[in-house]
Amino acid sequence: MATVVDPFIRMIKNIASALVIAVSLSACYHSQEADLVVHNARIHGMDESGTTHQAMAIRDGRIVELGPERQILNRYAAEKKFDAGGRTIYPGFIDGHCHFFGYGLNKQKVDLSGTGSWNEVIERTKAFAAANPGDGWLLGRGWDQNDWADKTLPDNTILNTLFPDRPVLLQRIDGHAAVVNQAAMERVGLDPKATIEGGLMVLHEGKPTGLLVDNAVAVFQKIFDDADDATKRKALLDAQADCFAVGLTMVCDAGLDVGTIDLIRAMQHEGTLKIRVYAMVADAPGNLDHFAKGGAIAEDRLKVRSVKVYADGALGSHGALLKQPYSDQPGHHGLQLASREHFLEVANWCKQHGFQMNTHCIGDSANALLLGVYGEVLGGTNDLRWRIEHAQVLSPEDRPKFGAFSIIPSVQPTHATSDGPWAEKRLGAERIEHAYAYEDLRKTMGLLALGTDFPVEGIDPLQTYRSAVFRTDAKGEPAGGYHPKNALKAEDALRGMTIWNAIAAFWEQDLGSLEAGKRADFVVLDADLGTDLPLFDRNRVRATFVNGEQVY
Ligand SMILES: [Zn+2]
Repeated sequence: MATVVDPFIRMIKNIASALVIAVSLSACYHSQEADLVVHNARIHGMDESGTTHQAMAIRDGRIVELGPERQILNRYAAEKKFDAGGRTIYPGFIDGHCHFFGYGLNKQKVDLSGTGSWNEVIERTKAFAAANPGDGWLLGRGWDQNDWADKTLPDNTILNTLFPDRPVLLQRIDGHAAVVNQAAMERVGLDPKATIEGGLMVLHEGKPTGLLVDNAVAVFQKIFDDADDATKRKALLDAQADCFAVGLTMVCDAGLDVGTIDLIRAMQHEGTLKIRVYAMVADAPGNLDHFAKGGAIAEDRLKVRSVKVYADGALGSHGALLKQPYSDQPGHHGLQLASREHFLEVANWCKQHGFQMNTHCIGDSANALLLGVYGEVLGGTNDLRWRIEHAQVLSPEDRPKFGAFSIIPSVQPTHATSDGPWAEKRLGAERIEHAYAYEDLRKTMGLLALGTDFPVEGIDPLQTYRSAVFRTDAKGEPAGGYHPKNALKAEDALRGMTIWNAIAAFWEQDLGSLEAGKRADFVVLDADLGTDLPLFDRNRVRATFVNGEQVY
């Protein structure tokens, strides 16, 4: 009997074990769903262990798993696959300090900077009008008659012929003079005989030439400041497109009003604006009252929980507030833009409402003043992550205050390479040693927020990396790098553009590194950024993803 049963039992056993194998195989092979699998890549997670991966699976906008190529491809059935072709992937770049909306608004104007004649101004305006047809305002900015062979101030004769019905306003580079055409004056209802306090309308034989000076320009400037909804929307979308093209998935806009923040929020909810925005609220009573009532905002793509304050001006225009007079302007210390009482009041408001305080400080005196105010209100180390924006010129004795009160320096490396050629003239040989001193600043808190301040500088985060690591500008100037002892290590520059910026914006739970559970915001580049300059210069952004969606 046993001889008959045995083969039968053996057969049953074989079937059973075959079933077990089949079941366990199905638990492994394509057993999990994903919306997107990214593979054949060199993914720098930028997590604490510094791991690199070949592939990752993404579901509902978040990373589900990172790992070796076969592991991820076998385990996940994905609707879409993205073959990175062996390229490098970093977390999406974050600009820690920029003017995203202002940059977009600028794009709605004709750029007249660097024009060599009034004729060139007219040509650029014509080209812009052709590219942006309609009967809306044509606004331009940037001409400077000092750059022209014929330095006569222009009038509106040609503009009236070219644009009989479309209003045109072309501002001088400093904004203190402008030429408007007849249609613009009619649109505004400006009486040519009217006297404008603090302003001047230039007349020729009793008729206005269209040349306006100072407050007369302000009458027209108001039109632009109150840009209509359509212009503002286009500004935000144009800015977003440029950001995605350079790998930015998030921007920290340094100073927005309630109205613009509401518009950004509405466009994000509509789905048209996909970029993440950390909006710093501009320091104005109306804005602060609004958020005192409504509280902070924390959404998928928008965070509002900080106030942007100005302590002083800029170094180039002698506005930065210095302890000792300017080296090239005896007796002049620069400008303090508000009283210590005001800064203290805002600081207390921020502490009370759980907002972060981010103050523009360029000069050593402005930095000392605000570090003092912060220290007085904060009292010691904390996790409130208040920031000093720019932190450009700092006395060594003030530097320890960053650590003492847990203050994050937020700096823009391209400022170092742009200002380098003239900064020493303003500051002298001694102070310049403690200006744009990013590595010294990094050591204070162990991290830095990196940005560009665009449109003051270019928008490209790779130039931030270049200026931080190589300390040269896009043309390779200055040779040997600007004060190379304050260069950042390559990995620190990358952290400053990703995870440290996420921390400085209270967003590190979701952003700044590529780890399971985090948002799938990432950028695809030809290769690692590295420390080889010729290789770096050939590197390009090839694709940008936000929430696992390809946006560039
Ligand atoms: Zn700024």
